[in-house]
Amino acid sequence: MAIRTACPYCGVGCGIKAKRTGTRTVEISGDPAHPANRGKLCSKGTHLGETVGLEGRLLSPMIGEREAGWDEALDLVAARFKQTIAEHGPGSVAFYVSGQLLTEDYYVANKLMKGFIGTANIDTNSRLCMASAVAAHNRAFGEDVVPCTYDDLDESDLIVLVGSNTAWCHPVVWQRIEAARAKRGTKLVVIDPRRTETAEGADLHLPLRPDSDVELFTGLLKWLQDRGALDDAYLAAHVDVPETFRESLDQGHDLWTTARQCDVPAADLQRFFEMFAATPRALTLFSQGANQSVRGTDKGNAIINVHLATGRIGKPGSGPFSITGQPNAMGGREVGGLASTLAAHMGFSEAEKSRVQRFWNSPAIAPEPGLKAVDMFRAVADGRIKAIWVMATNPAVSLPDAGAVRDALAACPFVVVSDVIADTDTSKFAHVRLPATAWGEKDGTVTNSARTISRQRPIFEAPGLARGDWWIIDEVAKRMGFADAFSYKNPADIFREHCALSTFENRGARQFDLGEWAQISDADYDALTPTRWAGAHPFADGKFTHEGGRARLISTAPATDTAAADALPMRLNSGRYRDQWHTMTRTGLSPRLSQHRSEPLVELHPQDAEALDLAEGDLAEVETASGKSIFKVLVTDAQRRGEAFVPMHWTDGFSNGGRMGRLASPATDPVSGQPGYKNTGVRIAKANTAWRGFMVSREAPTLPDCLYWTQTRRAGGWLTEFAGNGDAEAFAEAALPDADAIVADTARGAVRRASVGADGTLGAALFLTHGADLPSRNWIAAQLDSVDAPGAAAILAGRPAGAMADPGEIVCVCFNVGINTILSAIAKQSLTSVAAIGEALSAGTNCGSCRPAMQQLLKRERQTANA
Ligand code: SF4
Repeated sequence: MAIRTACPYCGVGCGIKAKRTGTRTVEISGDPAHPANRGKLCSKGTHLGETVGLEGRLLSPMIGEREAGWDEALDLVAARFKQTIAEHGPGSVAFYVSGQLLTEDYYVANKLMKGFIGTANIDTNSRLCMASAVAAHNRAFGEDVVPCTYDDLDESDLIVLVGSNTAWCHPVVWQRIEAARAKRGTKLVVIDPRRTETAEGADLHLPLRPDSDVELFTGLLKWLQDRGALDDAYLAAHVDVPETFRESLDQGHDLWTTARQCDVPAADLQRFFEMFAATPRALTLFSQGANQSVRGTDKGNAIINVHLATGRIGKPGSGPFSITGQPNAMGGREVGGLASTLAAHMGFSEAEKSRVQRFWNSPAIAPEPGLKAVDMFRAVADGRIKAIWVMATNPAVSLPDAGAVRDALAACPFVVVSDVIADTDTSKFAHVRLPATAWGEKDGTVTNSARTISRQRPIFEAPGLARGDWWIIDEVAKRMGFADAFSYKNPADIFREHCALSTFENRGARQFDLGEWAQISDADYDALTPTRWAGAHPFADGKFTHEGGRARLISTAPATDTAAADALPMRLNSGRYRDQWHTMTRTGLSPRLSQHRSEPLVELHPQDAEALDLAEGDLAEVETASGKSIFKVLVTDAQRRGEAFVPMHWTDGFSNGGRMGRLASPATDPVSGQPGYKNTGVRIAKANTAWRGFMVSREAPTLPDCLYWTQTRRAGGWLTEFAGNGDAEAFAEAALPDADAIVADTARGAVRRASVGADGTLGAALFLTHGADLPSRNWIAAQLDSVDAPGAAAILAGRPAGAMADPGEIVCVCFNVGINTILSAIAKQSLTSVAAIGEALSAGTNCGSCRPAMQQLLKRERQTANA
């Protein structure tokens, strides 16, 4: 029987039906009954089954490199935290937690730190994702409430996407947008410096200058005001407007000035303004491109200002809609997982602190907000924090200026890491590692961007000594002397308390009220179906959470010239790839997901590439004030001139270069503390190498030192790319010492080595060149998982004896269809639509994540044909 659970990746929070088929195998399908996805899944959700094995798992508590029992490890953690607090005060300890935790885990961690240890030094990696949206909601509404749901996508006439590559990052939301466009004729405007796959298909794309969103939305507000298009009645009844707000719009926010500030054509800007003015059902989705900015909170408020001033909020198909990155970012916000909030949407006023403390019956309550993520690791670095517990996240990779984070962790007297994976870039610094349960074993709830609470249910037994995060925290709390408040018997027990706190003395003051479930039985909790709090449109009656019930327009700060501030010649943007998730600890296990964008690329405009003497496939050194990394170059006119883009996913485990965290600036938004990952000053230069190559192997190889290597999973093994200088033959021999078939063409500088079994099957093969073309990776890598025995000659040739077409880079990972296969079918069969490609090749007919890419290919082919 299928178990209904929720996807562990993004904030769309799709429902999943998981049918266990073996000890650690599972069949995955979308849950048709779940309101977020109605049966659909993207490529990541579809291929979850490839990630549930036990490879790389941490299965026992570890003290240093020694396996320990739970009692010993928990006693040590509790004793060291108690000792540190006794010697240096509660502010000397911290928890850094994660949007991967379930709400019940989050609740217990927050309660222990803020109510019993007595400091708010608990922050979450959601700080990096949507803290600016939280701050914007609080400023405008008085509470962190998303006023929309996914159903609004189906009922909107204009969808505006701000800083969101939705087709890649929230693919099921994208599918709902596509469906609305097809069914209802919904118009789509994309506001993003890059022409992403999302922007390619839009009715209008505004490729604005990075971080000029505030100017753009303030310009829209001024344009609407000048045309009498504001909803004065709504403003008068429901919104406080700062005294000089309206006059301030007349100072430098006219269409022409705004177009110049945003560096977009005035005619395009006007078109957007006219579309917005003409469309009452307008929905503005904003995501990390808006939030991850030193102006992130102002961006959120500039967007919300427009919706409040036009009354486009609290109604079907309209509103400002923040979509979050992580599966349970919203659950973390509910329990107070951010250092800047207390619990259950309460803050640090005396009344709120007293209420929470009375409810918890706790000995201490955090007196004030704690250290936010970036500041927390600065405090670790300068010794203010002497013990830190990192749960389910990898800050040594993901925080900005990650080199400094590593130095801080290395110097910290006591580091605890609870994780699913044994060796992460962060766990290298841990004195104690605690094995946590993974997706498929966890039991609890998550809340998605649309305020829908879903159950994550266990499919497998917890392996080894792994335990739920809530249990681990609970056991440490007991050992710290708080057994009375931390003796939960199961996640349902915690959920009941969480719901009870949300309704305690609430009396309608806060929208977040789960009182209905405060007495839920264990059986009803087990059977809980997806449940939304605060209904479809929380502010439908125009009553907001601020005292007095009115929302607020927020004056935003003028732009500062960040480019001048760091005096570097280009700007660096960063973000996700379609089929990878965070630091690849889970998606990196999937051979299929690893086929799309299997290397970290720096994307450059053709004119920038030319000026830098870089061609596609070259290696480039990317350097910011924080550090350096090496990426392979992708030349694309989807980039604005003077700007580059790199992915966020690669870690030390997968590459010796390509690490974005080394590059991002630690500068943060002054209100939310969220780092500005999307706009860092950068210098890019060619990285000269004498040779490059690749290797396919059954085991991940240990390479000798070289300038660049990167590794991804393939069915049956690994694909490793490398480049370097020095003695190529010596490098090749050290990389693959036990080769039994070797071609070394010294004149042409080519080396090919293979280890081939007696039966002709492939063990490993290495191809290195000083400049000539390399064979296609696809056929060679496919031999790792093939029953064929091609023999040494074919392997060294890099192709089978007969002719074979190279499918090219894989576009559709569900059906393994490459770009060359698609282009050939388009040409030979005169295909003109994505549906026709699907019929011919099946591509795009399962999860649909590759449909925007195929749309792009069709468009390109059409343009070529018309040229
Ligand atoms: Fe998972 Fe994809 Fe749904 Fe996000 S859109 S929750 S990654 S299936």
